[in-house]
Amino acid sequence: MALLKWFAVHGRELPWRGIGDAYGIWVSEVILQQTRIDQGTEYWLRFMERFPTVEALAAASEDEVLRLWQGLGYYSRARNMHAAARQIVAQGGFPTTIEGLRSLKGVGDYTAAAVGSMAFGLPAAAVDGNVYRVLARHYGIDVPINTTRGKHTFEALAQELLPHDRPSEFNQAMMDFGATWCTPRAPRCMDCPVAVTCEALRSGRVEKLPVKEKKMKIQERRFSYIYVRHDGKTALRRRPAGDIWQGLWEPLFIEGCPLPDLGCPLTLLAHDVKHVLTHRVLLADFFLAEPESKPILPAAYQWVDEQDIDNYALPRLVEKLIAMLKNRKRPHDDEDRS
Ligand code: SF4
Repeated sequence: MALLKWFAVHGRELPWRGIGDAYGIWVSEVILQQTRIDQGTEYWLRFMERFPTVEALAAASEDEVLRLWQGLGYYSRARNMHAAARQIVAQGGFPTTIEGLRSLKGVGDYTAAAVGSMAFGLPAAAVDGNVYRVLARHYGIDVPINTTRGKHTFEALAQELLPHDRPSEFNQAMMDFGATWCTPRAPRCMDCPVAVTCEALRSGRVEKLPVKEKKMKIQERRFSYIYVRHDGKTALRRRPAGDIWQGLWEPLFIEGCPLPDLGCPLTLLAHDVKHVLTHRVLLADFFLAEPESKPILPAAYQWVDEQDIDNYALPRLVEKLIAMLKNRKRPHDDEDRS
């Protein structure tokens, strides 16, 4: 296979390569998850010197592990690794199956496959960002890599391509090729060992692949609802077109302007009631107003009998407000009526 030949010549020389020690390989994978290779190598050397075995790591205090990790960021990686070291020691040694590796704290599909293939020769494809890019380009696949479908597509393809007799070399070759040749920007297509079969190069889509689906930004909206109660009635309006909950009914709705003067104090029923919609988080304050004289409200509001409110289609958020009002004791509820 062309890529394995390429790897034999151009593969990176890294201190944990070829050591066959699951512990050292695992430590390198955890360090490199969010760290550049040159910085990661320094930390790996320091780490292995201080904790040369998984037993040494398990016996250390968390403080000591975190101190050695200082500067790498994402401290949950160090905490998980420390906890996993204790798991490994408690179970009498490193797990030698993908499922066993997956059961360690902080170890996901990628790390389990990387450690499993490099330390134990398990036939599992390790698919990281480099591998996604190489496969997307070489096979001209435009399924977004950051979707569940993309994850399944690329993992299945990598697994299909993996030679079962050389899983470790294959995984390392794919990672190195993505990291040094088929790079995100300015890939070395001119002297690429698989250029003749590269679909992205043939179709002029090298720069367009891989595809990532744009994540919609979650928008936060803050507003207030005032339930105006007067003479057994309350004011509702139908929500207008062009916004959420079109056609549903709601009490006095205030967004982006000060609360109105309704001729009476407003009683705060609840603050920042959270309601999550697709791509939106709503935070609402609920108020109750009980003016003595009927206030003048915008024309869209209609006065309806409070006892009929269940006949109106209300957004779930307004239902919460109504439920709060129903559960709320009125001032006279506790009076002795005997
Ligand atoms: S030809 Fe270019 S895009 Fe295609 S695999 Fe080689 S380096 Fe990557």
